[in-house]
Amino acid sequence: MQTNRLLNPKTAAAIDLRIEKLLKDLGNPSPPLSLADTRKLLKLDLNYYSSDDDSWLREKVHQMKVAGKQVIERPSLILSVVKSLGLKGVLLADRRQILLDKEVPKPKHRWNEAHEITHDILPWHDGIAHGDPETTLSPACHAQVEAEANYGAGRLLFLGKHFDEVLKSSLCDFSLVHELHGRFGNTMTTTLWRVVELSTESSFGLVTKHPRSATGEVSEDIRYFIKSPTFAAQFSKVRAASLFREVRARCFGRRGPIGHGEFPIQDDAGDEHDFCFESFFNGHDALTFGRCQSKKRPRIVLLR
Ligand SMILES: [Zn+2]
Repeated sequence: MQTNRLLNPKTAAAIDLRIEKLLKDLGNPSPPLSLADTRKLLKLDLNYYSSDDDSWLREKVHQMKVAGKQVIERPSLILSVVKSLGLKGVLLADRRQILLDKEVPKPKHRWNEAHEITHDILPWHDGIAHGDPETTLSPACHAQVEAEANYGAGRLLFLGKHFDEVLKSSLCDFSLVHELHGRFGNTMTTTLWRVVELSTESSFGLVTKHPRSATGEVSEDIRYFIKSPTFAAQFSKVRAASLFREVRARCFGRRGPIGHGEFPIQDDAGDEHDFCFESFFNGHDALTFGRCQSKKRPRIVLLR
């Protein structure tokens, strides 16, 4: 299971600044953002490699015919780096190339492309981002770099401040996730993730198996547990497994909207809050959006 890593506000602001500049240079486009136009502006080409086929990457890199660098002479190094770090794409910044893993399902390519573009526009990622096998990052540092690129990808694909305005002026619920998924042209999972992460309320998202086929094993059932900053601060002890247990008990559908309901969640101080949730099965994953709908209910002390 993966949980979202929230960036410190200073880092997030530094990334926002670069994304806003890029969007401005693109003429502040309306959604959905064209990544082809974005790459054109940045003079980046897009190509593919196969994580299943070493020779394929070897040939691709060979075709670039840029001499002099170790990475070109030893393209299989890229693949070993890609595999060991579990990457879905590579940025060869000095060759102005993004390579995406063609074995990854196509709907995810848009996200992976935006992720690589973000590595390219963050100057402090120079030389430490993907495709540079001479750089070895500690796992913690690598996770931070990846979290920054994911944050930037989300800001880019949802047009930065424009998205903040939409969130501020809307009721955050599942119908908003649906609408923004259509408007911005990003996957439902990506959209759910951004709506939760950028929400100013206490909200959470779960990406799980269909409740009917859940096994009870967290590692098998739950792919992502996404927390809004307020939720992370106020409900730090709440586990994804207990949320999913509550959701499962209230889901009865097979596809599309599969369930909704309410249940209380205890915050770190021990006070209970009412949360409402909606779940939707898209054929692959069950997506759940939950948000706090009441102020805290003081604990009732029973006097005997
Ligand atoms: Zn990356």
